[in-house]
Amino acid sequence: MDVLAQITESKPESASFLGLTIEDAGQLCVKSGASPIHARDLFRAVYKDNQLKPWERPGIPKKLASDLANGFQLTGLRIHSENQSRYDSSVKFLIELGDKSQVEMVLMPEAKRITLCVSSQVGCAQACIFCHTGRMGLTRNLSAAEIVGQVWLANHWISTHGDWLLKLGLPAHQRISNIVFMGMGEPLDNPEAVGKAISILIDPFGYNLAKRKISVSTAGHMDGLDRLLRLHPDVRLAISVHSAFDHERSKIMPINRRWPLKDLIAKLKDLPTHKENGLLLQYTLIAGVNDSTDHARELIRLVDGMNVKINLIPLNPVGPSRLSSPNVDRLEAFRDEIYRAGHRVMVRYSKGQDIGGACGQLVVSQKDA
Ligand code: SAH
Repeated sequence: MDVLAQITESKPESASFLGLTIEDAGQLCVKSGASPIHARDLFRAVYKDNQLKPWERPGIPKKLASDLANGFQLTGLRIHSENQSRYDSSVKFLIELGDKSQVEMVLMPEAKRITLCVSSQVGCAQACIFCHTGRMGLTRNLSAAEIVGQVWLANHWISTHGDWLLKLGLPAHQRISNIVFMGMGEPLDNPEAVGKAISILIDPFGYNLAKRKISVSTAGHMDGLDRLLRLHPDVRLAISVHSAFDHERSKIMPINRRWPLKDLIAKLKDLPTHKENGLLLQYTLIAGVNDSTDHARELIRLVDGMNVKINLIPLNPVGPSRLSSPNVDRLEAFRDEIYRAGHRVMVRYSKGQDIGGACGQLVVSQKDA
């Protein structure tokens, strides 16, 4: 076992430091008789310097250091395995959690940024017909610490893989700049942990990520949306649409029976962030299911008067299934229809196609999990 694995090894009796907001950390300082200001040093040690034992940082009072060392581990997560794409250098990681269950995350480099696609649940309860993760069913929610832990592990991996940055022409100090909650799970089925993780990730003494660089993708869980908006009213959302026809969407995404898309859109229209920043819609195109001109026109009707950006994602193959992606002509015809109506629209090919790291392909076999 390497050093990192040993130190991050799960100790069930210990809480994870990565689940603490700076306010939580400040309260712990006070409890140990120290000034809450030390929370800033602890955060800097963990998030800026990648330190595994922040309490060993010089200047941390002795009692606080020993209380933290006894009660906390940094993270109970470890990288179980990794698989790098030969085409686009994206890397899919299988992450083992403290209870030995597993999730996946995908690191996606681009010209000037690195995006991490994180998981929010072990499995998923939504059972969208075209999504591999959906076939697993839901095992459990991830904690905020397990979400932040994915980012910490990925940044640690980058810091020890200078060759990867070099090959991509990225500067040696480059770390994760964008986060998308598009891995395994429905983030709004777990809004408290997702909201807390966002608070930690944007902390100025931590990674200091801009909120607009974090996107939460949802199949349309309206209860969860309300709960997340209470914590972060200005959160960036990406809505998975997949059909603007109500009865059809219910067949593709069972969640639509409980929360119809029209209600969701009506709610989103009124959010101040929609007016300021617009809204990202994702539409996975499935041949013969949701890719006709009629489908494009219904989508245009749905977003009439809204400031939207529409990403069209050709279906990625998922295990034994008769569903397939439309051919290029169909994709372009669908795109052009939307473009002519005056909306921003793009066909987005998923990264990591050769490593099973593309949208909807993240799955952990039940046996391993
Ligand atoms: N549950 C959330 C986030 C996870 S899925 C959601 O539904 O948004 C992230 C994105 O990948 C969603 O837009 C989803 O619809 C898309 N996706 C899932 N399976 C896919 C597949 N097989 N091919 C292409 N996109 C897929």
